[in-house]
Formats: sequence, structure tokens, C-alpha cells
Amino acid sequence: MADRRDPPGGGFEIFLSPPQLDGTEGEALAAALRSNWVAPAGPSLAAFEDAIAKLCAVKHAVAVSSGTAAIHLALRAVGVGAGDEVVCASFSFVASANPALYLGAKPTFVDSDERTWNIDPERVVDLLRKRAAKGKLPKALLVTDIYGQCFDADPILEAARKYGVPVVEDAAEALGATYMGRPAGSLGDIAALSFNGNKIITTSGGGMVVSDNQEWVENAHFWATQAREPGMAYTHRELGYNYRLSNLLAALGLAQLARIDDRIDARRRVFERYRAALGDFPGLEFMPEPEGFRSTRWLTCLLFNGAEDEGLADRVCRELQARKIEGRPLWQPLHEQPLFRGAPFVGGGVCCRFARRGLSLPSGGALSEADQDRVIEVVREVCAAVT
Ligand SMILES: *Cc1c(COP(=O)(O)O)cnc(C)c1O
Repeated sequence: MADRRDPPGGGFEIFLSPPQLDGTEGEALAAALRSNWVAPAGPSLAAFEDAIAKLCAVKHAVAVSSGTAAIHLALRAVGVGAGDEVVCASFSFVASANPALYLGAKPTFVDSDERTWNIDPERVVDLLRKRAAKGKLPKALLVTDIYGQCFDADPILEAARKYGVPVVEDAAEALGATYMGRPAGSLGDIAALSFNGNKIITTSGGGMVVSDNQEWVENAHFWATQAREPGMAYTHRELGYNYRLSNLLAALGLAQLARIDDRIDARRRVFERYRAALGDFPGLEFMPEPEGFRSTRWLTCLLFNGAEDEGLADRVCRELQARKIEGRPLWQPLHEQPLFRGAPFVGGGVCCRFARRGLSLPSGGALSEADQDRVIEVVREVCAAVT
């Protein structure tokens, strides 16, 4: 267990994905404070919801305290409950699938597609067909837009519609990404966003549920505010949570949102600069971006794929950290986590290979070229030593 007195930032000099502030946030927060709308709701909260709904091209939004809370509410909104099967991407952060456990549901994990690194559409289609034949369809599909790249929505939505299974999109890493011109957050039937400190824009901590389905979003809002029934008295029929985002943090989010295009362009430039500097190493593969997809490049991810490269990602990562640079392993497959022991897994070894051979590099939008050169130098050094 981590020592909670570890130095803030773990002693790193170059961070993986630090919050990027541009100076307008202080004034936005001060204005929200001056307005006295400190809690619970207020004008910034409504404005932030409207702005995000517009960006995601959906009709309704409710801001909450984290992306994890948003996933929890979204799963509950589509009807997931105790004992239900939820089909999830194995290659994701644990916060994707934890809310299924909060609800007493049972995750089934599916492998990644090499093309997108996201949930493999062929396997999803096949799984739904088999479940339908047995008359036991899953209650929901929970798909992640991994590292800022949208899932391959069209084939998955087609199958989901055919069998009437709702699709919940975990777009925590992908705000501002597009798929065939459609924005992340609009691809599933309902989506969750995150404004955690390491994401594309931040409210320090926060999230949002977005959907065209008014009833679902209204229910999410209701549960997020203790499921307090309308009327003067404190009447409660359903189990609720205290999940609402504060108006102050929404003001911060609005200030951040004004720059989202620049943020994404900056991250994409960081990715391209890494690729230009490192792409010549044999066996080194950067996360692909298929035609029609536009990723946020939330993190620059690469694989060391050469025959001799087993263990190389780990060595590079250790060397980066030894030099106070926050390189990180990729997400470890959820079906291999002790927490999800016994959960079914459909697939081969794609996401396991990503986890063993992959790495993410410092990718913040404000990463200086000098700092990026330090990162590149370490990767080149370790790679050169083995080739
Ligand atoms: C960050 C993240 C979450 C959780 O968001 P929080 O706001 O940190 O709760 C969920 N899923 C994915 C894929 C994430 O990267």
C-alpha cells in the first residue's frame, strides 16, 4: 500500500499527464466565489453541463464528482443491477469496471482489437450472438475509448441495436476525440466523462454523465443528489449518493474547456514528436490511429514488439523513473486483476501483449521540447543498448 506521506508527485521532475492551467482558472474560481455560489449548485454548473453537452453533441448532461461516479450512474441508468452481466473491455483502467461491482453486477471481459486497442468488435458481435442463442443477453456493454481513441462504434452499435443491449461509453480519456466525425461521448447510448487532474481538461476532480436520453440523465441527477423525492419533506424511496459536482469546480472546468482544442492539438504534437524521434527503432510501434478516428492522444503509448524485446518496456520504464521521469506501464488487463478473479474473458492475448510490451510516456500538453528530449534520450539509450 502506498505511504500517504509520499512526496507530492512522487518526486518526479517530468510528469506523465499533469494538469495544464493557463492562468484564466484563478479568475474564474474567484468570480464563482464572489458570486457566493459555492455549493451545492449554481450558474457555472449549469453552464458547464450545457457546454459539455454541446461539445459531445448530446442533449442532456449531469456533472458529478468523478468519472467513476459517472460510470456508476450510467450503468444504473441503463438498468444494470445485482447479478446482471456487463460486457467490458479488459484493456482499461479499473475505474471502468469497478462500478459494475458496486451494483453487484458481473463483468465479462473482452480482448482488444489490434487496430484501435479498444474492445474487439468481432468478439463483441460473436459474444452477443451466442448469448442471444441461449436467451441470456448481457444487461449492458461498457466500452472504453482507450488513451483518447474512440472505440470502433459502428459494428458494435449495429449488434447492440439488433439485440437491444444498451452501450455505455467510458469516454474518460477521450473528451474532444472523434470517430467518423462524431464526438466521443455521443457514440454510445450514454457516456461518462472524467475531469480528473490527469485528463484532457480538469476540475481537479469531477465527471459527467451525457446522453440524448432525458430520462436516464434525470435519473442520474436524482441518484446523485441522495435520491431526494420532490416536495418539501425529505422523502426517499430509492438508494442515492452524494455525487454532485460543486459549482466552484464547474467554474474551473468552464475556464479549462475554453482551450480544449489547443490542449488536444498540443498532445497530438507531443505524440508526433515522439514518433519522429523514435519511430526508426525496429520493433517499436506507436499506438495506431485508423482512418476516420481522431484520438486526443491523451497519452503517447508505444509497444516494444521486436523478438528480443520482452522486458524492454519494463527496463525503459524503470530507467525513466530512475531519472525522475514518470513513464508508466500500460493498463494491465482487468481479467488478470486479482479483484476480478474468476470473471469470464473472451479473447486471445492481445491486451496481455500490450500490457507486457507497452509503455506510456510523459504526454502533457505543456511538456516542453527540452523535457521531451530528456525522455527521448532515455528511451534511445535503453533501446540502443539491446539492439
Ligand atoms: C480516469 C478514468 C476513469 C475514472 O475517472 P475518475 O474521474 O478518475 O474517477 C474511468 N475510466 C477511464 C478509462 C479512465 O481513464
